Amino acid sequence: MTTTGELIWNDEGWPGPDFAHNAKRAVGNSQLRRNVRKATTTIRERRAGLVAETPDWQELRHAGAAIKDDVLHHLDRYLEQFEHAATAKGAHVHWARNAQEATQTVTNIVKATGHHEVIKVKSMATQEIGLVKALETQGITAHETDLAEMIIQLSHDRPSHIVVPALHRNRAEIRRIFSDHMPDAPKHLTDDPHELAEAARRHLRRLFLKTKVAVSGANFAIAETGGLLVAESEGNGRMCLTLPETLISVVGIEKLIPTFRDLEVFLQLLPRSSTGERMNPYNSIWTGVTENDGPQEIHIVLLDNGRTNALKDQIGRQALRCIRCAACLNVCPVYERTGGHAYGGTYPGPIGAILTPLLAGVDKAPELPFASSLCGACYEVCPVEIDIPTVLVKLRHDAVKAKPHRTQDATFAAAAQAMSGRRRWTAALKLAPLLRAVKHGAPPPLSRWTRTRDLPDPPHQPFRDWWTQNKK
Ligand code: SF4
Repeated sequence: MTTTGELIWNDEGWPGPDFAHNAKRAVGNSQLRRNVRKATTTIRERRAGLVAETPDWQELRHAGAAIKDDVLHHLDRYLEQFEHAATAKGAHVHWARNAQEATQTVTNIVKATGHHEVIKVKSMATQEIGLVKALETQGITAHETDLAEMIIQLSHDRPSHIVVPALHRNRAEIRRIFSDHMPDAPKHLTDDPHELAEAARRHLRRLFLKTKVAVSGANFAIAETGGLLVAESEGNGRMCLTLPETLISVVGIEKLIPTFRDLEVFLQLLPRSSTGERMNPYNSIWTGVTENDGPQEIHIVLLDNGRTNALKDQIGRQALRCIRCAACLNVCPVYERTGGHAYGGTYPGPIGAILTPLLAGVDKAPELPFASSLCGACYEVCPVEIDIPTVLVKLRHDAVKAKPHRTQDATFAAAAQAMSGRRRWTAALKLAPLLRAVKHGAPPPLSRWTRTRDLPDPPHQPFRDWWTQNKK
């Protein structure tokens, strides 16, 4: 367990024990709230404009959901098809049941090259398995090359958003991070965006030119061809995918799509939903090894790490359709106030609130399904129609079943008793004025409920009494 500021983290990439603790700290940070609101509002508005100009948006969403569901129903078949196709094109395919097997596989491959440095493409899967830290313990330095990920790494921070990991940082903070932690930063760096970008570019170019091994994830893995696709905005990913001699990609098994043609759907859904663009500036697709062109050694690590467990959950399995666009984060009223750190793990926001318990087990993240107002905004924007509110409710049920709450159970049992007969209910209503006293200083354990919730004042005259008096 480590802490970032006052936040609690679990080093395996799964959340710390207390969303409420983390959220309270985050809500008290007005600078963070301002930064998050500004960034999410901008992306949200851009996305809404682009969706409005796409007449077949709902059909695209249905198609995206249907393709992903087909993959999930026939995952065994598509995985084998992918392995055969990728191997036939000269790639080495490895299978990892969990984070430990995946990091060990990547470490072994890097060690076999004889190099001790790797450059990294931004990837949620590698973050999920804690790859950078695992490599570090084996004497291998991994350099993040996505600009935002680099800012996070230099400042020993944690990402707070899936697509824009440093959105909680403003320009002044980034200038300070570069000046303090980037060894080759210019002496008199200002917070002008062009200057900051230029400093990062020069720093990264040196890394691209000297490093012989790269690690990536993938947005999509194409079963038909054995190809992988990375979509990005900066071109730094493409440098990693083309310049080194060895390329290792860690890919969640749910990233499969059946055919190359299916990209037609996802390459419309993803950029509009994630960054509010009509297309990603860089879509890099590679299929095995091409002689004298790009990396000559290609490894693909297919990662389970809880995905087959999630697949067993008939309601929860739809979370595996996720294409990590982060549209649900940008509309979530809880995320907008807490930012991503409060969720404590790799996946923040509404998707994190369901995916983390599904992958890690609800006992590891019992608080996350409750980190939602169930307003449904996430479902409305999700490009693959994941019904997040329904999954949240189901996971809440699982969490309560796994760890019964005695006070809550007793309260609901008493309420059920009171409501099951007219006389009992009328008698119970006579006790309602007591609630007024409870509201202003309930004793524990009831105070845990009233500490963060308003308890409405009971009416001075119950409706039944009013009806008896006025029905004529
Ligand atoms: S759940 Fe839907 S909206 Fe959220 S990140 Fe995944 S695909 Fe995007």
